[in-house]
Amino acid sequence: GCSTRDVIAAVRAGSEAVTEHRDELVRLDREIGDADHGENMERGFRAAVSQVESAPSETPGAVLKLVATTLISSVGGASGPLYGTAFLRAASAVGDVTELDGTAVAAALQAGMEGVTARGKAVVGDKTMIDALSPAVDAAKSAAGSGHGPSGVLAAAAEAAHTGARNTEELVARKGRASYLGERSAGHVDPGARSTALLLGTFAETTG
Ligand code: ADP
Ligand code: MG
Ligand code: MG
Repeated sequence: GCSTRDVIAAVRAGSEAVTEHRDELVRLDREIGDADHGENMERGFRAAVSQVESAPSETPGAVLKLVATTLISSVGGASGPLYGTAFLRAASAVGDVTELDGTAVAAALQAGMEGVTARGKAVVGDKTMIDALSPAVDAAKSAAGSGHGPSGVLAAAAEAAHTGARNTEELVARKGRASYLGERSAGHVDPGARSTALLLGTFAETTG
């Protein structure tokens, strides 16, 4: 199972991964946006780690909720409220259990995606983080259904998210800043889809 400590470790690793890939995320967002996605993600996750480490949380859900409120309050760009809503819905989905199994992780991912959809109204194919999240949720549910635990579920989700993110390259953006470019947004990977794949890959690696 996935304990509170595991979730905290995953958030810390996610923050390190975002910092490590800041320049890549900035470059992707420079091509079809305003070049701040790397900084937005780095600022948000650094703040989340510092909150999580300063106020001990009792449950995985409490950690996820603290991450959510920190992302919402510390990131100005579109991605802050969107990721924040995802973590908030994930927190509600897991409730106050102290250990997450594979099914709970899949349910948390699904709730997170529904939060992003409710907030941002993007559908699959709009060239957003949804194009990484949606296949990730499908893969996670199927892995959980065949009996995988948290690490197997996250590994399946991460692999699907990477493919989904790569496939955003050919798409024309219909949501967010990239949509202002119209057809010219094609030929570039969506930064938010890339950061979603990066985070899920890191969560999968951290969850032993
Ligand atoms: P901003 O666009 O405000 O500068 P960021 O650069 O941090 O914010 O984040 C941009 C990313 O947010 C995009 O690459 C896309 O994946 C995601 N995004 C933007 N709008 C939406 C939306 N309506 N629904 C889902 N994701 C979105
Ligand atoms: Mg941006
Ligand atoms: Mg911006």
